[in-house]
Amino acid sequence: MRAFKAHLRGLSPYPYARVEAPIKLDQNESPFDLPHALKEEALRRMARLPWNRYPEIHAEGLRRRLAALWDWPEEGVVLSPGSNLLILALAVAAERVLDLSPSFPHYAHAARVAGTPYRAVPLGEGFALDLEGLLSAFTGGVFFLPNPHAPTGVLFPREALWALAERAREAGGLLVVDEAYREFSGTDFSPLGRENPHVALLRTFSKAFSLGGIRAGYLLASPEVAGAVREVLPPFAFPAHTGAILEVVLENPGYAEEVAAYVRLERDRVYGRLSQHPLWRPYPSRTNFLLVRTPDAEGAHAHLLRQGILVRRQDRYPGLEGCIRVTIGLGEEMEAFLRAAFAMAYA
Ligand SMILES: *Cc1c(COP(=O)(O)O)cnc(C)c1O
Repeated sequence: MRAFKAHLRGLSPYPYARVEAPIKLDQNESPFDLPHALKEEALRRMARLPWNRYPEIHAEGLRRRLAALWDWPEEGVVLSPGSNLLILALAVAAERVLDLSPSFPHYAHAARVAGTPYRAVPLGEGFALDLEGLLSAFTGGVFFLPNPHAPTGVLFPREALWALAERAREAGGLLVVDEAYREFSGTDFSPLGRENPHVALLRTFSKAFSLGGIRAGYLLASPEVAGAVREVLPPFAFPAHTGAILEVVLENPGYAEEVAAYVRLERDRVYGRLSQHPLWRPYPSRTNFLLVRTPDAEGAHAHLLRQGILVRRQDRYPGLEGCIRVTIGLGEEMEAFLRAAFAMAYA
């Protein structure tokens, strides 16, 4: 086959395999569906749409709403079916991509697909940012920085982000702060983006907003950056029915705060319990998941799966040997997880 670019040959697939299990704690989803009344209202609005007509070219109506919500210029907002597509668009546009190691695997995958030069700087002791290393490596291009960080759950300090943002400005690069988990840490880095056009914020409705299935995310950036990203995305990419759902959600955002409040409490409870484990060690988390060091990730994963509990192995990443990642689910699901964890015997 010679139809495709050489760099796409032998590309390894995105590291995810679907496995069925009664207790699904592997994708950092919300354990709650959208509240029923909101779902009904969204269905009514979808029914009123003319399905034969194209949606707005760049979801202008929702852009206006998000711009008002975040006090952001309208031209600086980009809607997309999932923030993963925004990451791909940014990786396509980027002169080069700077990443952390370990980090959210889609950054590296997107850079590889885009054929964009790529470099990753390892995290230091205790999953801290190697600020010196990053300041010297960030000489332009796009730096994807998830904060809170996936897959460790760490929240990096504000001062480090401010320093990296200044570096972005000096180098003419772009710092993309991926805030996928911001509702669980209660943080908001939009003030940094408001004062520095070399900073963009990436947001998703897939986590605290409980909408992983409908695919919706957005970028807050300078009008110049947002314009470039919009040109990379196909026209009319944001579906009208997704827009109808988001309208309802943005008019009634209270439930997402309840999801986040529940998750924070349950996360800290499970962390406390798991800290008593003789062999497993959870890391403190500001997200909706816990990274857990075990003596053997493959064994832990298989043992949990035999009890009907699906978690995600993270041990293939450098520095995460023995690690699994467990999403915070319902109380009874977490009890089942803890029972299985404490029942795990090592020879
Ligand atoms: C879950 C997640 C996303 C969300 O991606 P969507 O395509 O919006 O579902 C983005 N970044 C990180 C780091 C994530 O963990």
